[in-house]
Amino acid sequence: MNPSHNAPIPGELDSSFRGVSLPDGDAEVRILAAINEIHLRHRNNHEGELPTYIPELANADPHDFAISVVTTNGHTYNVGSIDRRFTLQSIANPFVYGLVLDLLGRERVLQSVGVEPTGNPFSAIVLDRKTNRPMNPMVNAGAIAIASMIPGATPTDRLNRLLALFACLLDEKPIVNMQVFISEKSTGDRNRSIAYLMRNFKMLEANIDETLDLYFQQCSVSVTAPQLALMAATLANGGVQPRSGREVYSRRSLRDVLTIMLTCGLYESSGTWVHRVGIPAKSGVGGGFMAVVPGRMGIAVYSPKLDQHGTSVRGQRACEDLATLLNLHVFGNTEARQR
Ligand code: GLU
Repeated sequence: MNPSHNAPIPGELDSSFRGVSLPDGDAEVRILAAINEIHLRHRNNHEGELPTYIPELANADPHDFAISVVTTNGHTYNVGSIDRRFTLQSIANPFVYGLVLDLLGRERVLQSVGVEPTGNPFSAIVLDRKTNRPMNPMVNAGAIAIASMIPGATPTDRLNRLLALFACLLDEKPIVNMQVFISEKSTGDRNRSIAYLMRNFKMLEANIDETLDLYFQQCSVSVTAPQLALMAATLANGGVQPRSGREVYSRRSLRDVLTIMLTCGLYESSGTWVHRVGIPAKSGVGGGFMAVVPGRMGIAVYSPKLDQHGTSVRGQRACEDLATLLNLHVFGNTEARQR
């Protein structure tokens, strides 16, 4: 028997999908059928809580639920509340990491930020005991360190560099949600503590207030699910934005970005995620969830209720189901080529 490449591995993950058959035909018809099926399946799931530690995020509408896919040839598939904007929060981290890798080089970045998964929550006030580096660029400490490395003579230069990155990814001018920015800036003592700890160990040389402003601004970039899927599609498409054809990341930096997303993208549940689903992903406390299928597609889900780790509940479930239905696990097609 020669199992089809598109069939879910029998008995894997959620067995209730075994009864669902996607239409035959090209991959794109299957994507649309799959996201509609998954939206229907999860739209009445109201598990999770809205975050309150950034007060503005608690004002989200918990009913919102959108799924978008953008393929590497630039086609978009959408279902649900696709016009609703939400802030990237930590989903900005892999994008800014790639920018700094390209600008400063891997060796320089490795001196300041590690590449190890952490069993700790995203906001842990913890550095690597031996090197004093933040564990990885996906958790707050690492993301703040990366933000501090964005080159520029003034805070405005550095902000412009950041916004230029998002303009390339979105192919339009990015919007920063000022309410969320101010809400986080005025309640961000935990992130301030992380920054001072890094300065204590001489791991952060830039001005702390300016660095945190830049970090809070990158977290407050506001997108819709289709826009986030487009951003993810650039990561799926060798670093080239599929609509504009513009190279946003070098191949070398992109490889590092996707590797760290795979191993560290879901904080302390990263191991479970990669074991179950097996595609690079990143969550953010704004309710967004992004995944990348290299060479094929970017996936975005928006649903603002979060689990105890700070990850969108419907975001990860919908994405896991999509990976099951379309057999997206990076090690999902490992049958022997030669016998
Ligand atoms: N801005 C958020 C914070 O620093 C990001 C956290 C997240 O999305 O995981 O707490």
